Amino acid sequence: MKRVFSISLARDPGLSNSPVRQDLSRLQIRGPDGNTGYLCWRKYNVNSTSEKTRIATVWLDGCSGCHMSFLDIDHRLLEIADRIDLVYSPLVDRKEFPDGVHVTFVEGAVTNEDDDHKIRLVRERTKLLVALGDCAVTANVPSMRNIFSVEDLYARAYLENVTAQAQVPTQDIPPLLGRTRPVHEVVPVDLHVPGCPPHPDHIFFVVSELLEGRVPDLRKVVRFG
Ligand code: SF4
Repeated sequence: MKRVFSISLARDPGLSNSPVRQDLSRLQIRGPDGNTGYLCWRKYNVNSTSEKTRIATVWLDGCSGCHMSFLDIDHRLLEIADRIDLVYSPLVDRKEFPDGVHVTFVEGAVTNEDDDHKIRLVRERTKLLVALGDCAVTANVPSMRNIFSVEDLYARAYLENVTAQAQVPTQDIPPLLGRTRPVHEVVPVDLHVPGCPPHPDHIFFVVSELLEGRVPDLRKVVRFG
């Protein structure tokens, strides 16, 4: 039997108050029997394939508290474990940041030349970049050094506060940038998740929404400031 389907474009009325509504559309599909269905997609559909979503986490200038909060999702990690591949993280033993990452969560601010190089590489290789926690979002605690010159910081850390072999290291320690910066001042960021650290429930909300192909509306669960 020949089947005829009609397809039309429609807005998702349930998201009329969302700031991202302009990015949301759905196809209305009407079958020959008159029944309708909807096919939804979003601008931030991070993984349109049937493969697992490739997720990475990156640790710049932070205290690792945001990663700890990620782990504090606890048993709910099992709910997402079979839907993702954790392709790069301080939690796994991979040295090179890979290509083709769907979502990267970044903890920490951009403080030194290694951070700067790394976040630019991560941005190039990531579809959706999430600033995780206040250090990534605003530079937070690491930016407290911004009121001092780099020379004064080196002098305080390596010359004034030591009792032997006072010297500023020139090897293995990446040079400090002139000031510590939040991630979005260096590369475009797609989502900001505030908190010091963000609550595990909020992190789980973000991950769950992304895995469902939705833009997480963080106003539902947290407020900035
Ligand atoms: S936001 Fe808070 S918990 Fe996260 S890295 Fe910065 S200081 Fe640590």
